[in-house]
Amino acid sequence: MFIDGAWCAAEGGRAFLVANPATGEKIADVPDGGRADAARAIAAADAAFAGWAGMTAYDRSRILYRAWELMIARKVDLARTMTAEQGKPLRAAANEVQYAADFLLWYAEEAKRVYGETIPAPRGDQRFIVAHQPVGVVAAITPWNYPSSMITRKVAPALAVGCTVVLKPAEATPLSAMEVFRILEEAGLPAGVANLVTASDPAPVGEEFLENPLVRKLTFTGSTAVGKRLARGAAESLKRVSMELGGHAPFIVLKDADPEHAAKGAALVKFLNTGQACISPNRMFVHRDIVEPFLETLTGRVERMRAGNGMEDGIAIGPLVGEAAVAKVERQVADAAARGARVLCGGHRLMEGALARGHFYAPTVLADVTPEMLIYREETFGPVAPVIAFDDGDDVLAMANDTAYGLASYVYTNDLRAAMRLFEGLRFGIVGINDINPTAAAAPFGGMKQSGLGREGGHEGLHEYLETKLGGFSI
Ligand code: NAP
Repeated sequence: MFIDGAWCAAEGGRAFLVANPATGEKIADVPDGGRADAARAIAAADAAFAGWAGMTAYDRSRILYRAWELMIARKVDLARTMTAEQGKPLRAAANEVQYAADFLLWYAEEAKRVYGETIPAPRGDQRFIVAHQPVGVVAAITPWNYPSSMITRKVAPALAVGCTVVLKPAEATPLSAMEVFRILEEAGLPAGVANLVTASDPAPVGEEFLENPLVRKLTFTGSTAVGKRLARGAAESLKRVSMELGGHAPFIVLKDADPEHAAKGAALVKFLNTGQACISPNRMFVHRDIVEPFLETLTGRVERMRAGNGMEDGIAIGPLVGEAAVAKVERQVADAAARGARVLCGGHRLMEGALARGHFYAPTVLADVTPEMLIYREETFGPVAPVIAFDDGDDVLAMANDTAYGLASYVYTNDLRAAMRLFEGLRFGIVGINDINPTAAAAPFGGMKQSGLGREGGHEGLHEYLETKLGGFSI
């Protein structure tokens, strides 16, 4: 763990094991932090706050910029660490490291652009000034599916505006987090400004984050169930919260779209990270007139995807994170098949040869999916593409919006009016129109409804870590 500028063991010397999800092999032992470690990290962050917030934005920017340079220089090494502990193919891991670095660069630049305002006052002798100040100590919790970028997406803006941070990464992927913190250390971050507490049991650390009065903000990325629990706990002392939670993205293909082009996009975005992405399409609504060519192209592409250890060349499908994840996918596919869905490819675990040692599920396409099926409502977080044909009379916008989630959505059409109507009508924080990757460090990312609160990335991402202060001056 990294607390107050020093790498250290957990109190009591406990450790937990990190394993490779593709091979089951042990990779490392990592300090198993608890509540006392979290408290020590929070105290260090609190002690460092005044000094860090008091530095100029230019000085903070320089450190973030240096961290960006280091991360780019180490891209290959970081990607290897990520593939080993998380399983995604090496090329995808390198792309993620690039995305993680993008946040360091973007917020190194934005640090210098935290502008205030003056407001015309109602009295002649009065002046109003609006200033933005860092909220204070930030507690951050991140998931395993994007082990580096989910960290920099929080830590970079928090540091840019002058906050100090304590991060608890996911149990499955602490090694990528350690690499990020090594970079921050080498970039010259003062002691205590960013602290890392690794843990196998998240609950005690989470409780300390919620109950410690020095923490002024909790930022969380993970499941909706845990997010709700944490938000309830944060309400007790009215800590500010940002929540990046689960999704159930619709992928709409209108009648005028090119079904083959749309199916290529669907294959790329659905099987990214083996379907373990919050923006992964979970219901593909395709107009009945073009559903057959769509399914044919999609199935053809999916059948060619090779599953295996992400360290090997040509692997498209890495392992799922663990046994529970495989069991969830199995349950959803069995339920869909029992209720009449057609399994066009996949539909089973992969157990041949070396695959038996990891958590592999065959990339799967389901046709004739209906609202009664589990997969129509539950986030899958696995490599299954559920396709639903819709007809002319169906209100596909209402069908897409019929979910408790509201993170990402996708539309394929060449009809400008239909595109605008869907862009405006979809109750989702992100709408990709003929675009399967509507994300960037410069753009606000986040969900509506039960997909979360707040936005990360862009200038919106800075304001999650700022208080607004009004000064009224009588002169
Ligand atoms: P998760 O089980 O909610 O875990 C996320 C993080 O919370 C992990 O660090 C986990 O620690 C920790 N955690 C779990 N229970 C906790 C508790 N009681 N107190 C404090 N921390 C606790 O989610 P996940 O399965 O890792 O991640 C997948 C979910 O994340 C999906 O629903 C996905 O859609 C969502 N996600 C959302 C976004 C977004 O930007 N909206 C991005 C990526 C992922 P452990 O690892 O030790 O359990």
